[in-house]
Parts: sequence; C-alpha cells; structure tokens
Amino acid sequence: MRDMDLDGRGMTSRRTRDRLINRLRDQGISSESILTVLQNVPRHLFVDEALSHRAYEDTALPIGFNQTLSQPYIVARMTEALLAAGRCNKVLEVGTGSGYQTLILSELVGRVYSVERIAALQDKARNLLRKLSVRNVQYNLSDGGYGWEVMGPFNGIIVTAAPEKVPEELLSQLSRKGGRMVIPVGGSDHQELLLIVREGDSYRREILEPVRFVPLLSGTVRQ
Ligand code: SAH
Repeated sequence: MRDMDLDGRGMTSRRTRDRLINRLRDQGISSESILTVLQNVPRHLFVDEALSHRAYEDTALPIGFNQTLSQPYIVARMTEALLAAGRCNKVLEVGTGSGYQTLILSELVGRVYSVERIAALQDKARNLLRKLSVRNVQYNLSDGGYGWEVMGPFNGIIVTAAPEKVPEELLSQLSRKGGRMVIPVGGSDHQELLLIVREGDSYRREILEPVRFVPLLSGTVRQ
C-alpha cells in the first residue's frame, strides 16, 4: 500500500488510531501483524467525507446501497481466525463492499480474489485500491455464494455477508489441506460467526461469536 494518508487527514487522527488499536488489544486481538496493518490502513478513505471523523471509532459505518463498512473489531477477529494457522497464499473474499477488508487482506496474504454483487461498490473499491497501489487483488462481479471456482481452491475464504446456511460451493472451493473459511451464518434475528477448517473430506466447525451482518443476497446489480 502506498501513501497511507492520501489527503492528510490520517495524520491528525494518529492518536485516534492508537486508541482504536488499544481497544482492539483489550478485546483480545493479539496478532501484532494484524494490529499493525489496522493501525496503518486509512479507514477514513472508505467512508463518505461527512462520516470521516468517525472512521476510527470501532463501529460499522454506512457505505451506501444499504451496506456497511464492517466494524474494525470484527475485521480484525475474522482476519485473525483466517490466518491463525499461518500465512495464506490465496484468499477468496465474498463481499468486497468498500474494499476496507480487501485492503487489509492484501497486506497479509499472497493474493486476494474479491467478489461483489453490486457493480457501483466494486468500481469504487477497485479505484481506491488502485490509488493506494494495491496490486495483488483480482475482482469479480458475481454472486459470491457460488465462490469463484476457476480461481480456486483457496487456502482461505472470508465472507462478509450472512447466508442462512454455508453454501456448498464455498466448502468445495476450500483447499483440502487445512483450508479455512470464516463466515457469518444465520438470519436477521440471530447470526453466528463460524470458522470451518477442511481436511480432505472432513470439515471441522467452530463457533466464534454472535455477530450481525447484512444478508448474503443472490444475483448481481449492474447499474
Ligand atoms: N467487507 C466489506 C463489508 C461490506 S458489507 C467492507 O469492509 O466494506 C457486505 C457486502 O457483501 C456488500 O457490499 C454486499 O453487496 C455484498 N454481498 C452481499 N451478498 C453478496 C453475494 N451473494 N455475492 C457477493 N457480494 C455480496
């Protein structure tokens, strides 16, 4: 990532960023590499200017189209669970959204394959990450519930919108040797964040914590 403070506002919020990182530490995030990336990523560039003063609070923020930029704690928690067994070479991200999680992944893994169903969000994210000189991300406009089969299998899959149940296609695109998926599952009243680890034909599931994500929807929005 190049020139983290594209418009200078990041500099003035140094202390606010430090406060965010301390808060994440207090909440149990212990990976120093993930904390360092979160500290350096300019989250204010991923929200509308009117909201940028809130960019370093530990809350979800709107990004348009009824979608939200995930809360930093959840991004950190999901990334930590994904990478807990070591560095990942190839990661599939379902739900590019603003590109915030995409940027964080791009700093920590070999290559990110990011799928989004709303063209306008994808375009915006792609342009911003290009400005930040991020080069190890490939984008696809499609229904990510089907994964991105031709690019798989993936060492890691991270899903940032919640399906009612884990899509079979995503399970089958996990690497057979310890492929890891972090995914919220459930309806609007109750969702759980799951970690699924694949070994051959077996899938071990672990419930990480209750969460609230926007729903995983089908089809694409091209306009
Ligand atoms: N990680 C994003 C979170 C965005 S919210 C960020 O940090 O900004 C979830 C995103 O998932 C939305 O952009 C939504 O459009 C997208 N989404 C929902 N269902 C999808 C699907 N079936 N395929 C791809 N993307 C989907």
